[in-house]
Amino acid sequence: MFKFLKELPKVELHAHLNGSLNTNSLRDLAEKVYGNTSEEFSQLCARFVDFEKDSNLDKCFEKFAFVHELTSTAEGLQYATELVIRDFANDNIQYLELRTTPKANNNYLRRDYLRIVLDTIKKGREKYPNILVKLLPSINRSEPVAVAEETVALAVEFAKTDPDLVVGIDLSGNPAQGKFTDFSGALNLARKEGLKLVIHCAEIDNTSEIKEMLAFGMSRCGHGTYLSSEDIAHMKAADIPIECCLTSNVKSGTVSSFEEHHLKQLMEADAPKVVCTDDSGVFDTTLTNELLLVAETFNLTRDHCIDLTMEAVKHSFANDEERQQMALKVEHYVNSLKSE
Ligand SMILES: [Zn+2]
Repeated sequence: MFKFLKELPKVELHAHLNGSLNTNSLRDLAEKVYGNTSEEFSQLCARFVDFEKDSNLDKCFEKFAFVHELTSTAEGLQYATELVIRDFANDNIQYLELRTTPKANNNYLRRDYLRIVLDTIKKGREKYPNILVKLLPSINRSEPVAVAEETVALAVEFAKTDPDLVVGIDLSGNPAQGKFTDFSGALNLARKEGLKLVIHCAEIDNTSEIKEMLAFGMSRCGHGTYLSSEDIAHMKAADIPIECCLTSNVKSGTVSSFEEHHLKQLMEADAPKVVCTDDSGVFDTTLTNELLLVAETFNLTRDHCIDLTMEAVKHSFANDEERQQMALKVEHYVNSLKSE
């Protein structure tokens, strides 16, 4: 099953740029940024050895802090973006939607941040021709609404030049911070301008906010851990898929075990769902591993895994032609196995 899933041309729809660097890539990035003879580099390498022995949640989040530091320069951000594409390409991801919150610091403005990421994605097409990458700028709900408005304005502007590259807006960040309704104006503007909306929704048990989000609407729902049976029926009727990230949910403690993951409920209800990684680097996983985990936990066959991949093709923000190509790649792969 592992080999079958590894070689399957997969589709990743929920991946945060800064969380998606695996340990080897993080080491490569540190080497590039600090140089391999520096004190910072040897200290980081020592921490990585420690991570490999034991990756508890604190250490997962420590990884995030490293990445933020390493991507705080234009060069670091550019290289990190390239490495993330490399990591997904190595896992046979044929289509990737990357999310990232544009940041501003002494080295770059939010506009520069997005420009660097977009240019790197475009350059990556030559080096990694088997993976099609799209970008969803993220709004961090812990930040002020004015920042969200700036992010939407930039996304709209960049989408005008690159409509096949900037395809939507994500709402993410600490679900216990910020009020959804404060951001609905900015999100609505993005939607009016033709951008798709992906919303981290029902990550925590907050019934009134879940209701507000569902009434507002979205193209895809991130996590959906605390959706009720009625909410799931609503998602099914509206054909809104729930992005399920098993390792992320269990390691971060929002779901108690793989067996109890709400993906089971979604499958039983035949509601739309896609399997994703969220932060593959931080949580030390890959989409191959996530699909294997799903298959082993819920006794899925190869055909079920192909169906899950085809659901991801259907719910991606690729254009019709791109989606047809993606489906064809899966079909070719399946046919190649039959003729073996
Ligand atoms: Zn996420």
